[in-house]
Amino acid sequence: MDRAGGLGRRALLACGTLALAGCSSLKATPAALTASPTMRPTTPTAAFARLMEGNERWVSGDLQHPDRDPNRRQLVAHEQEPFGAVLSCIDSRVPPELLFDTGLGDLYVMRTGGEAVGPVVTGSVEYGPMTSGTPLIVVLGHQRCGAVKAAYESLRYGKSLPGNLQSIVKALQPAYKQAVKEGGADPVETMARAQVELTATDLRSNQDLAPLVGKGVLAVVGAYYSLDTGKVEVLTGAPA
Ligand SMILES: [Zn+2]
Repeated sequence: MDRAGGLGRRALLACGTLALAGCSSLKATPAALTASPTMRPTTPTAAFARLMEGNERWVSGDLQHPDRDPNRRQLVAHEQEPFGAVLSCIDSRVPPELLFDTGLGDLYVMRTGGEAVGPVVTGSVEYGPMTSGTPLIVVLGHQRCGAVKAAYESLRYGKSLPGNLQSIVKALQPAYKQAVKEGGADPVETMARAQVELTATDLRSNQDLAPLVGKGVLAVVGAYYSLDTGKVEVLTGAPA
């Protein structure tokens, strides 16, 4: 699937957050990263700033479309070192690469209905931080989330959704309970925000990621995207 292919986990972890050019145990193509038009952020703060700057361009329309040309494709064809991992909804209006104005090889992206997680999704989110020093995870919820609304109504009125959709409802149950507890004028909106905060908190404190967060080499940010404005609002965990 990427530069991890054919490499043992130990070798990857041994490389930690070292730049690829400095990691002798990998078949590096140093030019792939050093020649990138946009240097890869290596700290949580820098990675977070890069994403938020990209979102500001998305909001204003002053886009750079970085890392999207044939040169970039060739540069990352053999190796990748994304600076962020984003878990967002499947919603067609919330594509992380666009709303953060990023390009090829910049982000790992996981998308599920309502950012629902289970072991496979969590493992996918952990992949970058645990194997190649990806310094930032963003859990991104959004306005008018259909998955959250459907799950809310299913739980509120006790009606199961058909087929595997019910597994999304089950995964969003903690957010529903949190929303009921919090109350508020728009319970679906409250639930969508709760889903982000609970998921970010779980990731930040899980046994695999907590040590990285503790060392300051990883931040887990919870954020919320406005369909109306295009703006990403930080809810929790912004690096200092
Ligand atoms: Zn959604």
